[in-house]
Amino acid sequence: MLDCVFCKIAAGELPATKIYEDAQFVAFLDIRPVQPGHVLIIPRSHYENLTATPAVIVGRFFQLAQKIASAVIQGTGADGCNMTMNNGRAAGQVVFHTHIHIIPRKDDDGLGTWPQLEYQGNAMQEVAENIKSALKVLDLRS
Ligand code: 5GP
Ligand code: ZN
Repeated sequence: MLDCVFCKIAAGELPATKIYEDAQFVAFLDIRPVQPGHVLIIPRSHYENLTATPAVIVGRFFQLAQKIASAVIQGTGADGCNMTMNNGRAAGQVVFHTHIHIIPRKDDDGLGTWPQLEYQGNAMQEVAENIKSALKVLDLRS
């Protein structure tokens, strides 16, 4: 896709510090890492984000992500890793080409995790019902 930085990296038109590539996927270091060894994995084909990516590609994508996560942990001496996808502008996505972040974490790195809320009243049941209804519609389509 024109003007997509990750398509250009996949095509070799922009430089990247690659750690893995095959016919379908490329993995490379994030240019502005949360921690050293922060890896991005992309499918070579352009899809805007996870929800727009065909399920058959998502399956292979996550299998590869599992393997690369192990290598990132071992290769950086990390104690664990975060694997995150920012899907949509509201979630912080700035490059609209499907990618997953693998971020090595140390026990004492001080980065913490998400802030968390508490449900009030029936809010937990209501949101669960809404998600279940959406899931039924998606199941009918697949
Ligand atoms: P997101 O879209 O999930 O917020 O994150 C996009 C990520 O891509 C950012 O962490 C950013 O640092 C990284 N990024 C953006 N442009 C480039 C680039 O040209 N090369 C590399 N290696 N990473 C990039
Ligand atoms: Zn792209």
